[in-house]
Amino acid sequence: MDSASKYSSWAEVDLGAIEGNVRVLGQISCVPVMAVVKANAYGHGTVPVARAALRGGASWLGVARLDEALELRQAGIYSPVLILGYTPPARYDEAIANQISLTVWEPAHLEAATAAAARLGQPARLHLKVDTGMSRLGVQPEDAFDLARRLAGMPGVLFEGVFTHFARSDEADLSPTAEQERIFTEIVHALEAARLRPPKVHAANSAAALVRPSAAYDLVRGGIAIYGLHPSPECPLPPGFRPALSWKTVISHVKTLPPGRGVSYGHEYVTRTYERVGTAPVGYADGFRRKKKHTVLVAGQRVKVVSRVCMDQIMLLLNRVPQVRIGDEVVIIGSQGEERITAEEVARRWGTNNYEVVCGIGARVPRVYSGDL
Ligand SMILES: *Cc1c(COP(=O)(O)O)cnc(C)c1O
Repeated sequence: MDSASKYSSWAEVDLGAIEGNVRVLGQISCVPVMAVVKANAYGHGTVPVARAALRGGASWLGVARLDEALELRQAGIYSPVLILGYTPPARYDEAIANQISLTVWEPAHLEAATAAAARLGQPARLHLKVDTGMSRLGVQPEDAFDLARRLAGMPGVLFEGVFTHFARSDEADLSPTAEQERIFTEIVHALEAARLRPPKVHAANSAAALVRPSAAYDLVRGGIAIYGLHPSPECPLPPGFRPALSWKTVISHVKTLPPGRGVSYGHEYVTRTYERVGTAPVGYADGFRRKKKHTVLVAGQRVKVVSRVCMDQIMLLLNRVPQVRIGDEVVIIGSQGEERITAEEVARRWGTNNYEVVCGIGARVPRVYSGDL
């Protein structure tokens, strides 16, 4: 049975595209790739994406939360995993017992890690985060060396990595990125001189991996690019990357309405003449934003969503495509015939970025995979 006869709204994820994108990112950056699969792999599905990324040559996986890392382990994925963000120290034991690497930036983290490692009789794998200008997480640059030295001397801990994160690597002007890189490189040199350099030094997100080869160090952390999505309008992907995700729904009802009929909550649209109006079962509870001016594809044509988006449904104006029938596929993101709507186009319409569009596809929208699971 195909998805259109089974589901109301679904996302199709091409795992071959993920695998290929990881491979291309590795070729461009010339260093190993950490595939960033946080937030349900940017809405694409954590476990299938992680497996595809590993097939594409990724040697690390990056997540934001402990529970995301545990999901990978429970699925039998035993590659190195780094939690890039905060882990409550009360849960360090779970990370250590599952050989999950932790990000630390405070002396209190080192104490908690060494205590947990002693309790478990297993090493805590730590990456020191340095704040070189994002001002989000990380030890300040002037305190980084001292904290690294303390870390390296703690019993039961493995000093596995040191990293930073760029605030503006997806912009046309790369001077703020160059400055962050300079600060970070200085710290790395100091660690090298003191024979404290950990095996994994990393800094680049997708944008930096594409445009700043000098920031590749030992590993690039690829998120948005492995999904085939552009880091930003100023930092487009080069050829060779393919978007992996399409988001679809189906026509659930069509009718011709007489002039003067109000459509959906609030009757924000009123028919002017005899008009074909269709309904599709996707709504704001699926992540289809309650905004005006949506466009979707039906019968290979762009059609307008009219009036208010409901929790579970939208209404479409089908005057231009009178041949549309119940059961026909509707494309929200993806291609149909000659037409294509990208996540970037939806982001422009919604006043956000492509990251938020794909991360916002709701949990009740099933992910349907093509390629090896
Ligand atoms: C999310 C994240 C990434 C990936 O960023 P992209 O722009 O999607 O490539 C890399 N590093 C850290 C610390 C992150 O939080």
